[in-house]
Amino acid sequence: MPSVVQSDILVVGCGPAGLATALGLAQSHLKVTLIDKDRFPRDKVCGGGLSSRSLRVLSDLFQGDHSGLSMLPVHGFEVTTPDHHLYRYRPRVSGGELVMGATINRNQFDEELLRRAEQLTNTEVFFSTKVLGIETEHDQVRVKSDDKEFVGKVVVVADGAHSKLIDTLAGKPFDRKRDAIALRGIFKNIRVVDNSNLVGFYFLKEVFPGYFWIFPLPDGLWNAGIYVPLSMRKHKKHNLNRLFFDLIQENSELSARFQDAVLIGQIESDVLPLAKPHRVFSGNRWLSVGDSASLVDPLAGEGIGNALMSGLLAANHLVNAFEHGNFSAQFNQQFDQRLMAVLKKEFSLRGGLIRFFGNKPRLFSFLFREIARSHSFQSLVAKILYKKTVEGRLQSVKW
Ligand SMILES: Cc1cc2nc3c(=O)[nH]c(=O)nc-3n(C[C@H](O)[C@H](O)[C@H](O)COP(=O)(O)OP(=O)(O)OC[C@H]3O[C@@H](n4cnc5c(N)ncnc54)[C@H](O)[C@@H]3O)c2cc1C
Repeated sequence: MPSVVQSDILVVGCGPAGLATALGLAQSHLKVTLIDKDRFPRDKVCGGGLSSRSLRVLSDLFQGDHSGLSMLPVHGFEVTTPDHHLYRYRPRVSGGELVMGATINRNQFDEELLRRAEQLTNTEVFFSTKVLGIETEHDQVRVKSDDKEFVGKVVVVADGAHSKLIDTLAGKPFDRKRDAIALRGIFKNIRVVDNSNLVGFYFLKEVFPGYFWIFPLPDGLWNAGIYVPLSMRKHKKHNLNRLFFDLIQENSELSARFQDAVLIGQIESDVLPLAKPHRVFSGNRWLSVGDSASLVDPLAGEGIGNALMSGLLAANHLVNAFEHGNFSAQFNQQFDQRLMAVLKKEFSLRGGLIRFFGNKPRLFSFLFREIARSHSFQSLVAKILYKKTVEGRLQSVKW
């Protein structure tokens, strides 16, 4: 007989989405059970880039206390367009450099979120416990592993990009044709091009409309990789691993930066479940968050911010659901609506941009050149994005 664990909320997956759910429920007094198939620290293939959304949600979750999280602030970016022009953007606000995002060592990041969740008195964590199935019943939900059965009122599915559980719950298989793949390696001794912490995006024709990235990490390391949306057919059969090494040897800009680079560990790849239209995020006694809900930004391939944000929204929704004693599919629609209120416009704009520019690398290069010439357009965009006066402009840099 499997042992039975009883709680209010079951969360499957201890990535940023599942952990944000648990951390968001810290003040709720609801009993939360977190379940993960792995033992931590576990290795998660990732670029380690945190957007401003990620930083905002982290601030909400941690109430500004970022101790224990080793993050490198990002002060700007460099973009190389398919016609080999390099642009640099390093804005300043009164009082210093603008923090546009941050980079992290991903394994350490998840471990720190987990450490904080483990400290919560209402939360219990089970490692090395692979969930094999979920059964929703009239008044409860059962989550089953090999040797245990977890029983709760509601389950949050946060089991990442390869979620099978969500296919079964939603009654629809995952549409992988619209996904992306990405590969990353951790390096030391990549050449620095600027003293500031800049993240580099190389929109090279070989990967366009995806990109090659180089992100500086804490502790003098670098994360470099390639992001490719699968809908761009020409890349489907590419061996990304080989392409990565070809590019760092043959592309003049990259080979200069990688001249003394040393790879630490392995180059690894994985899929990124991009946002899809008409996706269902909840049902009777279940919600899905993060990659299992396909919330990766289609333009940038960024998923941590939306994983954290959806986890926090799920926590808020669940507090409401327990107050009303209502876990029905109809009630949970409020979660879908709240999520889409934040993401729908963003996804359709960014998905539209990648479809539009997908086979127009020259137009992309041309527009970048034009934008770099227009100071007033740049300060307007900066004002909208940062809601403050930003000094600095996109500069064309001679290579
Ligand atoms: C190469 C690459 C680079 C990327 N770079 C970036 C980047 O720079 N910035 C960014 O924002 N995003 C990036 N992403 C995307 C980002 O990593 C994901 O969007 C993010 O990890 C999603 O978090 P999550 O919590 O939903 O899932 P995950 O972090 O994948 O966590 C899911 C958890 O569920 C557990 N699990 C899975 N199945 C089961 C099961 N059956 N039972 C129990 N537990 C289970 C797993 O062990 C895992 O711990 C990148 C992705 C890739 C592949």
